[in-house]
Amino acid sequence: REYDGIRLEKVREYVWQIPQEAGMNAPARVLASEPLLEQIADDDTLQQLKNATHLPGITKYAVCMPDGHQGYGFPVGGVGATDATDGCISPGAVGYDINCGVRMVRTDLTYDDVRGREEELVDQLFTNVPSGLGGGGVVETDVDTVDAVLERGMDWALEHDYATADDLAHCEDEGRRSDARPEFVSGKAKDRGKNQLGSLGSGNHFLEVQRVTDVFDGDVASAFGLSEDQIVVLIHCGSRGLGHQVCSDYLRKIEKQHGDLLELLPDRELAAAPADSELAEEYYGAMCAAINFAWVNRQLITHRTRRVFERVFREDWEDLGMELLYDVAHNIAKKEVHEVGVDAEGRPVTDGDPTDVEERELYVHRKGATRAFPAGRPEIPSAYREVGQPVIIPGSMGSGSYVLVGGERSLEETFGSTAHGAGRVMSRTRAKQEFWGETVQKELEEGSAIYVKAQSGATVAEEAPGVYKDVDEVVRVSDELGIGRKVVRTFPVCNIKG
Ligand code: 5GP
Ligand code: MN
Ligand code: MN
Repeated sequence: REYDGIRLEKVREYVWQIPQEAGMNAPARVLASEPLLEQIADDDTLQQLKNATHLPGITKYAVCMPDGHQGYGFPVGGVGATDATDGCISPGAVGYDINCGVRMVRTDLTYDDVRGREEELVDQLFTNVPSGLGGGGVVETDVDTVDAVLERGMDWALEHDYATADDLAHCEDEGRRSDARPEFVSGKAKDRGKNQLGSLGSGNHFLEVQRVTDVFDGDVASAFGLSEDQIVVLIHCGSRGLGHQVCSDYLRKIEKQHGDLLELLPDRELAAAPADSELAEEYYGAMCAAINFAWVNRQLITHRTRRVFERVFREDWEDLGMELLYDVAHNIAKKEVHEVGVDAEGRPVTDGDPTDVEERELYVHRKGATRAFPAGRPEIPSAYREVGQPVIIPGSMGSGSYVLVGGERSLEETFGSTAHGAGRVMSRTRAKQEFWGETVQKELEEGSAIYVKAQSGATVAEEAPGVYKDVDEVVRVSDELGIGRKVVRTFPVCNIKG
């Protein structure tokens, strides 16, 4: 099979490989069904994925999840694991919105408790949860506070009564990257973060109240505290202007300082710092700090959401059962140790039998991809260690979303990763030509009893359900591959958009 001169070989059902050619340091893989592959091949995703294999130290393959689409230099939905000793780290393979991610908050409410009050709820959420471009967060801070947040992440939120110890226990990395180095975050980035702590931001970011409509795995669902008809809250946002500034600061520095490496790469946007360089260390430390910022951001929004529910339902949030199910990052690079099959010379093997298996420390870049560790990995909180980590996959404001559990095949296939959403099929510009915000909003309300409130009609058009791939198909592929298994499906009740 060939798309615009890029040849793909079918390895087996849902697994497609771009063979290694001159300049590539490994092959590339796409995980997709036929209809998803057609959509993925429709933009620059395949070329970008192929380009990513030029990164030094790329291990085994660059791999695209079933929700993949083109991004800045490196596909959204892409996973690239580079050797942390003699490879590199690439800001473009993390993305501008560092630690963009999603968290799900449980409640003890059922859909019946919320019916008839959707408008009140959505109004209250819209009024109390800051959203939109620019300023205004849950807290107004100074640079010292930003520094503390960058350094300590959710520990800061705990110290200031915005979080409970239980919240920390149910967050990826307990909401704190100890590798964070705030001193490598620029003053400009910190300034941008000052008045944005506890804000959704614009466009694709949202807070959605949902009900659980389908339970696929009763045992795992009950381990996650989920059951049919239950109301849950999904929060999607990232590190705002702060993370964006960190990304652009380091892209510029790396392009300047590592021009020799840049010349080996087919795309400037992939600019990378060699693993042993000063800039690699500085970017990693700054990125980890921005990761901490995003976790606190989502925590402050959670705090506000709990207050809103208390007011609307006249009960303490604890009595409403509003515990954090889990918080996952989907724009991140992390040093992780993975088992890598190698040949006699110690080179990673993609096809065929390795002569040996070694534990290697890798920078696992997950850009628009979610960690999906199976049962047993020590990084998983103890509450879920025996079933696997929760994986949260939003669909769109008019279709379903999913909770998955890390699959038994994920370490082998994807360095422990799966999709992060349905993934776009069209640009924002085209979306605005195809859809009209108010019409979409009206259809959702009248057709599906979904109440949406947004900063602008344009936002609704840009994020209309029709701009996204079929989330059911994305999740089906993840499930069939065994990288992330279906647990429950949810459906929107009301939604606020940045
Ligand atoms: P991203 O991080 O790439 O901007 O978005 C992640 C995913 O969120 C998208 O691929 C899309 O499937 C999903 N999504 C976007 N808007 C909404 C929304 O309003 N509600 C839900 N449930 N999902 C959404
Ligand atoms: Mn984001
Ligand atoms: Mn995101």
